[in-house]
Amino acid sequence: MEGILSAWGRILTGYTPALSIEITRECPLHCPGCYAYGDDHLGGDLTLREVRDFKGQEREVASTVEDLQSAAADDDASEICRTLLAKSLLDRIGGAGAGCQKAVGVALDATDTNELKVESVTVNGTNATARVKSGTGDSATTRTVQLTREGSNWKIATL
Ligand code: SF4
Repeated sequence: MEGILSAWGRILTGYTPALSIEITRECPLHCPGCYAYGDDHLGGDLTLREVRDFKGQEREVASTVEDLQSAAADDDASEICRTLLAKSLLDRIGGAGAGCQKAVGVALDATDTNELKVESVTVNGTNATARVKSGTGDSATTRTVQLTREGSNWKIATL
């Protein structure tokens, strides 16, 4: 309390205090019993240190993968074919029609898309790579998804 009164006294007599703000990615304190960075704090599949903040194009790439998860959760192969797949991939599977929907259906059946988690994104010009974890616990697998930019949108080039 004495320190506060002393500081007020100096401020009221014209002293301008300096304010220092330290921004850290990880909490620099070491409180006893802190569990923020523990293995189970986020449910066991990811720790706080592994959480990444995607920005800019990386965010856009991650968003496309999240859109894939959302459409897959709705079992909406039509939406995936119409809006999320790159032209190069559509060309390989015969366009965005019935053939695409069948191919996407097979891919979705083989992947647990309910728990897709983008772990990292690398952008190189109009190409990008996303490391995506699917599934949980012992059945979790990580795969690499290639994306390509078409206009202002990132599209999935491999499934
Ligand atoms: S409890 Fe953990 S996260 Fe919270 S301030 Fe303390 S060390 Fe930092």
